[in-house]
Formats: sequence, C-alpha cells, structure tokens
Amino acid sequence: MSHNYIVGFPRIGEQRELKKALELYWSGKSTFSEVEDIALSLKARHWNYQKEAGIDFISSNDFSYYDTVLDTAVMLGAIPKRFKGLEAEELYFSMARGNKDAVAMEMTKWFNTNYHYIVPELSLEDSYKLNATKILNEYKEAKALGITTKINLVGPITFLGLSKRVDRGDTYELFGKILPIYEALLEEIAKLDSTITVQIDEPIFVKGVEPKVLSLIKPCYDALCVVSSNINIIVTTYFEHSNEATKVLVHTPVWGIGLDFLHGEKNVESLTLINSSGKKLIAGVVDGRNIWKNDIRKTTQLLETLAKEVDKENIIISSSCSLLHTPFTLKYEEKMDAEIKNWLAYAVEKLDEISLVSKLFWGETLSDTELKALKENKKANENRTNSTRIHNKEVQSRVEKFSKLEREGAYEERIKIQKELLGYKDLATTTIGSFPQTPEVRKARADFKKGAISKEVYEQEMKNYIDECIAFQEACGLEVLVHGEPERNDMVEYFGEQLDGYGFSQNGWVQSYGSRCVKPPFIYGDISRPKPMTVDWMTYAQAKTDKIMKGMLTGPVTILNWSFVRDDMARGDVSKQIAVALSDEIDDLQKAGIKMIQVDEAAFKEGYPLRGENISGYESWAVRDFKISVSTAKQETQIHTHMCYSEFNDIIHTIEAMDADVISIETARSGNELLKIFKEVGYKQEVGPGVYDIHSPRIPSVEEIVTQIKLLLEVLPKEQLWINPDCGLKTRKWEEVKPSLINMVKAVEIVREGL
Ligand code: GLN
Ligand code: ZN
Repeated sequence: MSHNYIVGFPRIGEQRELKKALELYWSGKSTFSEVEDIALSLKARHWNYQKEAGIDFISSNDFSYYDTVLDTAVMLGAIPKRFKGLEAEELYFSMARGNKDAVAMEMTKWFNTNYHYIVPELSLEDSYKLNATKILNEYKEAKALGITTKINLVGPITFLGLSKRVDRGDTYELFGKILPIYEALLEEIAKLDSTITVQIDEPIFVKGVEPKVLSLIKPCYDALCVVSSNINIIVTTYFEHSNEATKVLVHTPVWGIGLDFLHGEKNVESLTLINSSGKKLIAGVVDGRNIWKNDIRKTTQLLETLAKEVDKENIIISSSCSLLHTPFTLKYEEKMDAEIKNWLAYAVEKLDEISLVSKLFWGETLSDTELKALKENKKANENRTNSTRIHNKEVQSRVEKFSKLEREGAYEERIKIQKELLGYKDLATTTIGSFPQTPEVRKARADFKKGAISKEVYEQEMKNYIDECIAFQEACGLEVLVHGEPERNDMVEYFGEQLDGYGFSQNGWVQSYGSRCVKPPFIYGDISRPKPMTVDWMTYAQAKTDKIMKGMLTGPVTILNWSFVRDDMARGDVSKQIAVALSDEIDDLQKAGIKMIQVDEAAFKEGYPLRGENISGYESWAVRDFKISVSTAKQETQIHTHMCYSEFNDIIHTIEAMDADVISIETARSGNELLKIFKEVGYKQEVGPGVYDIHSPRIPSVEEIVTQIKLLLEVLPKEQLWINPDCGLKTRKWEEVKPSLINMVKAVEIVREGL
C-alpha cells in the first residue's frame, strides 16, 4: 500500500552544491561534466532521503539545472529563434541567462512565491518536437538505485498559461500543437515500466480559471489518459483551492487529484465529488511553504475530516506543494537558539513528518524513535503555543488598541506646508535610497559580524561611506539626498535584526532563481521595536549636509512578504504589529529633525492573492498598515514611498488610498505609457517616475533623459513630478552611478530652462 507522497523536493543541495557547481562552470572554471557529476550525486542523495524517511511517492524530474518551466520548453522544442543553432547545455543556459548575441528569456515569479521561472516564448509558426531525454534518464537513474519514482511534469495548460506569445496573441491557441507532444512523451514514459505514476502540475487552476481555460481541461486529460494503461496520472494544484477545475477533472480518467488543504481550505468543498469519482485524493496537509513544525495533532484532525467524505483507502498523505519553497535541513543550524530551532522543520524534517502522519492515520505500529518523535512534536507545539518569547501581552494590547489611521492634515493642505518648508523646486531630483555596495562595504559588514573588527571601527567605516555619498550628491547637484544604506545587507533583514519577534537562520537558503538563493528571516513572535533602528545613521547624515536628507524605511507589507511568517496568526495581524513598530520609528526620526521619510513598499504587489475574491481583503489590511506606519508623521513631514514594478493600472486606487505625499516608481523602460493611469484617475499626489533603468550597466545620456522627462511632462504637470532613477543603486558600480546621476541632473536643468 502506498500511503504518502511529496509533491517535489528542493534540488539546490543542502550546502548549495548545485549553485556552486553552476557558478564555477559559468565562470569558465569547470566543465559541464563536473556539474553533471554533482547533479547525479545530489539527485541520488535526495532520493535516498525520501526513501529513508519512508516516502512512497518519490519524484523524479523535479530536478533542474535552472528551472522546470524552462525544462518543459526544451522538452517541447519551444526554442525562440534567436537561440537557433545552439545545442545542449549551451542552448539551455543561453535561454536562461542570455549570451553575447542573444538576450535571456524573461523571468517572472512563480505564482505567489519568491521562486522565478523562465517565461516560454511561443509563436504560431512554431513546430514542436519531443525531447524526452532528461525525463526518461532521471527515471532510469533512480531505478538503477532501486528507487521507483513518479515522474513530475509541468502540465500543458499551466505551461501555456505561463508562456507569452511573441506577437502578444493568446498562448492557448497553441494548445493543439502542444498536446500531441505531451501524448508522445507519455508514450515514451509508458515504455519505462509496467506501471508508472505521472504527476502533472497544473497550478494555474488555482487562479479561478476563466471558461476558455476550463474548457481545455477535459479534452486535455481525456487525451492524455488514453495514451497508455500503464500510466496513472495525478493532476496536482497548490497554493489555493481549485474547485472549478476539480469539477471537470472528476469527469476525466485521471487516477488522482492532488490538492492543497492548507492554503486552499475551500478544497474541502470538492471532497464529495472526488469520492464519488473513486479517484485517489493526494491530500496536501504538511506545509511546503513554511518552516514551522507540523502540528501533528491538528493534521490528524484535518485528515479525519477528509476521511469523513472520502474513502480512507483513496487518501494519500502529501506535502501541500513542492518542498522547493522551504530550506533544506535543520542539520546545519548550529547557532540557532535551541527553543526556536525546536519549533522548525525544513524539507528533510518534513519528510519524517509526512511519514509519521501517514502511519498514525493508518494506525500502523510506531517504532520507539517514532513514538519519541510524536511526543516531542506535541511538546514543541505546546511550547510554541505558550512561550513568552512568542506571546507578548503588552505588544498585543497596544497593537489591538492602535486605531490612529489618518495622519495630520489632508493631502492638499499638507503638500502646501511641505513645499514651503522644504523649498524644493518642480522636477526635484532625488534617488531611491541605496548607493553601490562596494566590496569594502560588504567586507566591513562581514568582518563586524564575525567579530573581526570592533563596533567603533565598523561604524566609522560606514560613516566614511555616508560622507562620500553625501559629497558626491552635493557635487553633482542632487536636491534631496539619501545616506546610501551602507549598513543594510538587505532591506528586510536589516529591520528584522532589530525587531523583537524575528529569527534568522544560518543555512535557511531557498532557491529564488537559477543558482540564486535567498535566506528569508522568519517572524516567530509578536513584533516590537526595542529601540530606534535608523535614527543614529540618519541624524549623522543630516548633520553633514544643509540639504534635505531623506529618511529610509522598509514598509510593513514588504517586511512581511519577504519573511517566513508565523502560522498561528493572520498575515494582516502580523503586518499591523510591524506597522506599529514603524510608526514609532517615524516619530523618533521626526523628533530628531528628519523632515522627509521614504517608506519602501517594493513587495506590495507581489503579496496580492492568487484569487480575485481575496484581493479586497488583502488590500484593506495592506493599505491600513502602510497608513498606520506613517500615521505619526506630522503634516509638515513629507512621506515618500517607492514601488519597484511598473503595472499600476489595476491597483491605482489602492496606491491612492495609501496617501503618501510622493511615490517613486519604476517606469524607465516604458516611456510615459505607465504614467497615463495616474492622469486618468486624477491622481493628486506627487510622482517620481524612474527616468532611467538601473537594472542595466548602461549609462543614459543627457539627451535621452531630457527626452524621457519631456515625455513625462506630456502626462503630468511639472509641479507634480519628481525626477529619480528607477530603483536603488545598490547593485550598480560607482563608475556607472556617477555619470548617470550627473547626466540626470544636467537633463533636469536643461528641461527647467526650457519651461
Ligand atoms: N531603498 C531601497 C534601495 O534603494 C529600495 C530597494 C527596492 O525597491 N527594492 O535599495
Ligand atoms: Zn525598487
């Protein structure tokens, strides 16, 4: 009997072995066959972890050298023209990363995660051809090690839904061309063994699929299921419920349906249907998106609820999604506080949880180790429920009572006072916050963390850097200055480190894209601010210049979205705690003489729910918490915000409601198109549309920026416009930043003369 299952496993390696191997190879320091060797050993190790934990359905083809959507494009032979002529790994990595002749394919976020996939480029002229090598080989590799795997595939409907067409047409028009390739693939897979399970991921179904897409499900899965009687097909979704699609899938011959019962609670509404269809239910009950230890008692209850509706024999216990989104193993967390560590489970630990939960569900006898694990699980969860490190009554009651939402004065009055007091001109120039993080700055920070240099030495180095930033900004004629953020490794981590309720890992790496990993901090308890976080740096910087020094904070929603968040509290409630802490910071900054403060909300849009019906709920607490953060600002204190994405059309009223005095946004790549929405809705507040793209090392000329500013002036009046780059300059080099900003200031002077 096969009882348990995982959707997929992380591939980067517990010591980020794959990352290191890839980067060596990309820099020309090793050969691809060395990367392949590492990959083989990683796959074997990961399969063995799963086997040893007693997982019945172990995946193959969840491995990738870069991204599984890219792998799917390669499987289909969906290769954009500019890569024609290339082969094998050269082709693959050129698609992912570009080469000297061809730009890389676009990359974007995988649903609401921080994983990024490569966006396939399709064209009506394409003719597709199956390349099944990778998929078949991985199955055989595992088989040679004595492990029979299920094969993971990105489903055809999701593949089309995530692709783009070169001529901007509808990608679903290519359905008829793609489906036969999937059929051919299944024919090849069927030859591998007498019975094989194939997991077809269709997460696009959770977005509340439109009728057009819904109508493809039945023909698609009817066709795929008849390819071979050797194959059991499981269609898997995650991150939300997919009831609309499930209604259709139950009428196809698929063998099983995989659903996420943690992030898609409403999936329970489909249980009766699934039961009468007699299909297997792959029940996602162990969280693949978070780092908390499963509460086995609660999970058992959830499973009992499921078993009331679905025949027990048809239930297979699973992770809620691929474990790709969690860090690898707690084994290397040597420095973490023991109590906190005891609350956590990374991917490897989740395997044991799934195995234990399934044994309990089936009433199997537990070994001594398992009995002990069960006891410890109960204790850890009780401890987490009661720990005073998590629950801070004082914080809770203050946050609950906090009701000041509106800041002093209406915008129209505020801006008059601010303009008079701050005295900036029309088309005022500024930057988004960070200046280049030089190797010296990084080294000083690392040395300080290691204890190799004293706090005094470290702070002096940072101050020297701030001095340099100020000197440059003054010399180049920028009007509103920033301190340059040298003390920040990361815009979320910096604040997390100073807030109570935040934890950090040593090795909690999660793949973000390609070889890149991030190590998000985690919120475990009630959040409060023991002392000011930025006031010393800001007052130091302000004292060094007569110009306005803009304070720099990360907003509550962005702090929340770029952290692992506690699962015992609603996200909006956590965000409110962060907001209250930030409101104190703004109060302190103001008292220390800072007159302008930017509150970055870089991840505001990324936090949007997958399903339309949940959007207004998100927006209401996200806007509330931004407003709480800035509620302490006096009317003469100017509040800026910054968002680094460009599509504002669908959220413009939400942005308006945030009521910031000035917003800087990313628009440089799109002329003035994206700004038009601000005019259309009669947006009153001031706007700083980025006038040049900071993601590229290219230095924009004065003429180019003049043209860009003139375009902006076609849409919004000069009184409403600020002039700034697209985003922070942290990732750029000084050689690029200096001439770019000098040109930006010159361009403004030219435009002003002409007005
Ligand atoms: N203030 C931050 C910086 O300049 C903003 C970064 C961001 O928007 N991602 O680095
Ligand atoms: Zn940005």
